[in-house]
Amino acid sequence: MDFSLTDTQRALQALAHDFAEKEIRPVVRDRERIDDPAERFPWDILEKGSRLGLRTLSLPEERGGGGANLLDLCIVGEEIAWGDLGVAVTFDQTWKIIHFLDRVWNEEQRGRYLPAFLEDHRFHLAVGMTEPNVGSENFTPHDSPEFGVRTRAVRDGDDWVINGMKHFISNGGIAKLYTLVTRTDPAVGVSEGLTYFMVSPGQEGFSIGRVHEKMGQRLSQNAELIFENCRVPDADRVSEVGGGVRARSGSFSRGSVIESAATVLGPARAAYEDALEYARNRVQGGKPIIEHQGVGFMLADCYADYQAARQTLHYAAWRAMQDEGYDSKLGYMAKVFASEACFRIAKRSLEVWGGMGYMTEAPMEKYLRDVTSFLHSAGTNEAQRVRSMPYL
Ligand SMILES: Cc1cc2nc3c(=O)[nH]c(=O)nc-3n(C[C@H](O)[C@H](O)[C@H](O)COP(=O)(O)OP(=O)(O)OC[C@H]3O[C@@H](n4cnc5c(N)ncnc54)[C@H](O)[C@@H]3O)c2cc1C
Repeated sequence: MDFSLTDTQRALQALAHDFAEKEIRPVVRDRERIDDPAERFPWDILEKGSRLGLRTLSLPEERGGGGANLLDLCIVGEEIAWGDLGVAVTFDQTWKIIHFLDRVWNEEQRGRYLPAFLEDHRFHLAVGMTEPNVGSENFTPHDSPEFGVRTRAVRDGDDWVINGMKHFISNGGIAKLYTLVTRTDPAVGVSEGLTYFMVSPGQEGFSIGRVHEKMGQRLSQNAELIFENCRVPDADRVSEVGGGVRARSGSFSRGSVIESAATVLGPARAAYEDALEYARNRVQGGKPIIEHQGVGFMLADCYADYQAARQTLHYAAWRAMQDEGYDSKLGYMAKVFASEACFRIAKRSLEVWGGMGYMTEAPMEKYLRDVTSFLHSAGTNEAQRVRSMPYL
């Protein structure tokens, strides 16, 4: 077994670290407190990252992208998120979705969308699954007409007419192309009844509803997507009719949860580093608090949680990259373990800072707000546990 990073991975890690240190960290704390979502959104940072090649990283080199594999993306995502989790999530959504689209696009679709995606440094992507009445049902193994996606697409000549609503969608309102899962057959369960489409901003019948205010990840944007008799040509369908789940499991889901979860390592590591520094400098009872065993234990536990989470995610990513023998439970449970480990790290690190940790002038409360998001997003941890139960 060789756990060392390749030269390419080290170079990507250094590039992402440098970007986070120089472009994100100096501005992030003031920026995330801006009330107006449009003013807050970090287009300037994202554009700089795009010019470094970060936005198109997951696309194969022969298509004009960076050719990064799943493990590379885990490493880069962690470094960007060490600067800010919201910025990393914006990139990561685009990585996952372009990877999916690249596999499902036909040549005509690729010809229409890929050039603009490559050229426009503001071209990000979003995927709409979650609806106000349909959340974990999309992830847990129900397969009955009563459960799962309700947004309807009905065939009308060469078009489909879409009605319904999605909410909480990452990159909602800023994406230049949306991938959308709809119910095309309400009489059957999700395994045969779902179909994916692409929708563009400004398309008649498609609008952005509320932009959600979030406790953390405030530099990524989440919004409602509203479809009212939205006509989508069949040419913008990206799965077989009724084949949405198969299209997703063929590419989208394999490893995507691992890649997303790796971003949560970033704020957890940043919290641990800041806790270490504080504990070395803060003197109580005549010595630096790091020399009090209780504080030292908290820091040792942070280290153990970080290493275990990172190695588990990297191993799961490596397994997912092998042609055979990947068990998707490994990815789901790696996400569960990592998100909970990172939550523990951020909580302990805040405690090491004592009362100051609770003050918004200190960095610790932001780390805690940010890491909390991953207990819920990419499928709640309970939903991922249900998917991983031994009898399933
Ligand atoms: C920051 C963020 C970004 C997101 N980005 C996107 C996005 O880009 N696209 C998108 O489509 N969605 C997105 N989501 C939505 C996310 O996927 C859903 O919030 C998630 O799937 C849970 O759905 P829900 O919120 O409706 O909760 P519910 O499903 O209502 O769950 C409520 C509670 O009940 C529990 N629960 C539900 N069913 C079960 C069960 N069978 N067994 C045990 N416990 C259960 C859940 O674990 C949870 O604790 C995002 C969410 C967040 C927080």
